[in-house]
Amino acid sequence: GAMIQIEHLTKRYGSFTAVDDVSFTVEPGKVVGFLGPNGAGKSTAMRMLVGLTPATSGRALVHGRPYRLLEQPGRHVGVMLDASAQHPGRTGREVIRLAAIQMGARRGRVDEVLDLVGLTPKESSRRVRNYSLGMRQRLGLAAALVGEPEVLVLDEPANGLDPQGIHWMRTLLRDFADDGGTVLLSSHLLHEVQVIADELVMIGHGRVVAQGSVEELLSGR
Ligand code: ADP
Ligand code: ADP
Repeated sequence: GAMIQIEHLTKRYGSFTAVDDVSFTVEPGKVVGFLGPNGAGKSTAMRMLVGLTPATSGRALVHGRPYRLLEQPGRHVGVMLDASAQHPGRTGREVIRLAAIQMGARRGRVDEVLDLVGLTPKESSRRVRNYSLGMRQRLGLAAALVGEPEVLVLDEPANGLDPQGIHWMRTLLRDFADDGGTVLLSSHLLHEVQVIADELVMIGHGRVVAQGSVEELLSGR
């Protein structure tokens, strides 16, 4: 069955509908790109998916159950919502150590995951405020991965990455999915998700406007 199930998910702020009756599923082993312009409702939908914002109606399930990031940090779901907001005064390694403690990660996992995202010991000993956007994205991914989750929920993870960085992320997420992991990632840029994702869910003004494999959607079938 589906690892992520989003059913008629809706969020209203007063009379404004930010997410409007959104439904889709993500199967295990898939990398799904959530594509839409800024303001389309991607972050709001993802925040509802991880339980940081209550839905007005509808529901979002991970592994058949509602997920609450703040009550169940890390174990099954790795989340990266805004990489730029993370702890500017700490070193990269400290950020990952804290995440490892919070998520009950196994010994040795901090160095393993820093290596996995390509942050060198020298880089991970620098303070996050001195990181480039690309390094922050790598660090955010390391934080999301440190608990060895089955599911990754990543909001704009490719933001600010150069083509090489996008290719690197594709390889990392593809390997994660090939090991049975499930990935939902958002982007406002087709070229980013087109390279990284197997399937796309396209959203505009809070509504799903198209979904299918990247090939299907790009060939216009
Ligand atoms: P995206 O992630 O696709 O850029 P968001 O989910 O951040 O879009 O925002 C969707 C819409 O909801 C935007 O118009 C945004 O201004 C609005 N919005 C988001 N959060 C709130 C809020 N707390 N109160 C009112 N409007 C909000
Ligand atoms: P604070 O008490 O500082 O608000 P939070 O628990 O809200 O701490 O988390 C701070 C940041 O860490 C948030 O941006 C959140 O998205 C991220 N975070 C928390 N738990 C996880 C997790 N399990 N996986 C990935 N990121 C997480």
